[in-house]
Amino acid sequence: MLHQPITVAGVEVFPLCDAVGPMGDAIRRPLPQMFPGGHHGESDEWILHFHCYLLRDAAGRTVLVDTGVGPRDSPAASWAPVPGALGAELARVGTAPEEVDAVVITHLHSDHASGAVVAGAPVFANARHVLQRAEIDAAGEAVLDHVVRPLGERVQAVDGGAEVLPGIRVLLTPGHTPGHQVVQVGDLVLTGDVVLHPVQLEDPRVPYLYDADPELAAATRVELLDRVRAAGGTIGTAHFAEPFTRIV
Ligand SMILES: [Zn+2]
Ligand SMILES: [Zn+2]
Repeated sequence: MLHQPITVAGVEVFPLCDAVGPMGDAIRRPLPQMFPGGHHGESDEWILHFHCYLLRDAAGRTVLVDTGVGPRDSPAASWAPVPGALGAELARVGTAPEEVDAVVITHLHSDHASGAVVAGAPVFANARHVLQRAEIDAAGEAVLDHVVRPLGERVQAVDGGAEVLPGIRVLLTPGHTPGHQVVQVGDLVLTGDVVLHPVQLEDPRVPYLYDADPELAAATRVELLDRVRAAGGTIGTAHFAEPFTRIV
């Protein structure tokens, strides 16, 4: 699906729609179980979008935020609509994989990290890959083998807030996973899986079944959304149907 870019603080932000579809049976549950206490409408079906974002600054430098569900045989294949369209989406916005200067992986779940390494080879060969050290430390052997180890020296492990390019920062936002991070540019925050579904905008305390630490995730979500709201800002989400949501 074609989503329009926006420009924030001199940085162009292109939403890349990697995939669209419901969760596979392996982990799908009715929405009231997925988001307990949320205000759900008639529909019980959650059609997820899987968005990555390409940031391009005034100097032409690029940062890719998340790498999508990956190819047909990706670790996400058990539950997500593979293969992802990230490569075609990047081409659509005029960027080749080897031109990406930095990749931010918000967290190591298979729908965010599986496009980074395909058939054992790094896809964004010239990019450093920014990950929180806490996320790497908490990762299981399978994801270390599939993603982190093949990236080798391309991994840039950071602890908490760090600048990726001038004006483009990552912030540690734990809870969904121990080392989850978001990306901030101007008054825009790319929220990864801090916010998964619009019911969590209505009530940020609504947990998500697959949060590693639901209480911490809720506290992080409340704090982050309060801060974006105070700034009159916008979030760019991974799984909403529309990539950008102004927080009021
Ligand atoms: Zn996740
Ligand atoms: Zn996700």
